[in-house]
Amino acid sequence: MLQSQLFTKTRKDAPKDEVAKNAELLIRAGFIHKEMAGVYSYLPLGLRVLNKIAEIIRREMNAIGGQEVFMTTLQSKELWEKTGRWSDEKVDNWFKTKLKNGTELGLGFTHEEMLTAIMAEEVKSYKDLPRYVYQIQTKFRNEARAKSGIMRGREFMMKDLYSFSRDEKEHEAFYKKSQGAYMKVFESVGLGEKTYLTFASGGVFSKYSHEFQTLTSAGEDLVYICDKCRIAVNKEIIEDQKNACPQCGNKKLREEKAVEVGNIFPLGTRFSDALGLKYLDEKGESKSVVMGSYGIGLGRLMGTIVEVFADDVGIVWPKEVSPFAVHLVSLAGEDAKVKKSADALYKKLTSQGIEVLYDDRDARAGEKFADSDLIGIPVRVVVSAKTLEKDSYEIKDRKTGQTEIVKEEVLLKIFR
Ligand code: ATP
Ligand code: MG
Repeated sequence: MLQSQLFTKTRKDAPKDEVAKNAELLIRAGFIHKEMAGVYSYLPLGLRVLNKIAEIIRREMNAIGGQEVFMTTLQSKELWEKTGRWSDEKVDNWFKTKLKNGTELGLGFTHEEMLTAIMAEEVKSYKDLPRYVYQIQTKFRNEARAKSGIMRGREFMMKDLYSFSRDEKEHEAFYKKSQGAYMKVFESVGLGEKTYLTFASGGVFSKYSHEFQTLTSAGEDLVYICDKCRIAVNKEIIEDQKNACPQCGNKKLREEKAVEVGNIFPLGTRFSDALGLKYLDEKGESKSVVMGSYGIGLGRLMGTIVEVFADDVGIVWPKEVSPFAVHLVSLAGEDAKVKKSADALYKKLTSQGIEVLYDDRDARAGEKFADSDLIGIPVRVVVSAKTLEKDSYEIKDRKTGQTEIVKEEVLLKIFR
């Protein structure tokens, strides 16, 4: 992509009311646009990152048998009344609206009800189970506080998967498997080392549910880490646990600030009972389907990546989610030879399937370098009169700041 054609520009300042580092950097670098508190649009650079995160999540959900759907955001009141979750006393973050004829609708903050009702039409016998269904879709929540940028939106993208199993044992096997898939997602986006499987309260159907908490000072949660087991316990249950690790009893837990990037939850038969999702087992007996739900916030994950890796001068993307693999910066000025050489390198890299943001703008070197640092693509390649003289290119690692002069063969190998 030619940077001269990109409709977004970098800017010196984020909106005055923006207090979150992730949103401030993402706005200044042109990844997102703030519509209002907790409501952000994704611009070309931001959408590329969001799509990469979505692809990583898809890959792992498909690998454990997930089937992708896309459900609606408009949901009927009657459906939610069946599970007792329509009332504002029960659910305090509803956005609701009305049809012209006065019929009330809800804007989905989650999709247990809707998918359970769909599955009740499809699942008849034990042969129809287990099934795993997920979507990547917008959720609406009227959050009381929206001060964490894209980490806590009032409108945000979530991957939500729901499992439908014949019994507790079958549910438990998948629940365990999902933990592995979740860790793979967080490893793939570069957050593996900072992310902990975290014991949380389980509601009425299970002793525990689990969160995936990533350590960052920008987090709104506190977790207690057991370094022996490499797990954490959340604030809700630390006292129940008598300040000890639920796995090994270790009492030396370390308190850290963290953000919940994912959440998996055993639902038992709460939703299947309320919405009539039953199946006939081998003996012809009618049984309730055992369910679980599994969420990851895509924007929250993206914001967390920014918070964890950013430095004094800008964003630092891990390569797996970076909007481009390389930021090619031409310092041609009026020099036609330099321009020709940079153009040729852009062509060569893109023809090899490498994603390049090509800064072909007519701007000062200092401005281009500052923008490149702010945008945060892992590798910067500079083409200038100086590099041309040496028949080489200057590469800079965004993370370490190290620069190196290399020949073309070496440069091409980096992206292989
Ligand atoms: P929190 O405790 O942070 O409010 P939650 O427990 O309500 O989150 P879930 O309902 O389990 O969240 O949603 C699944 C996932 O969706 C969360 O783990 C998180 O990654 C993401 N998520 C939840 N709320 C938001 C939000 N307001 N903005 C962005 N992502 C969110
Ligand atoms: Mg939570």
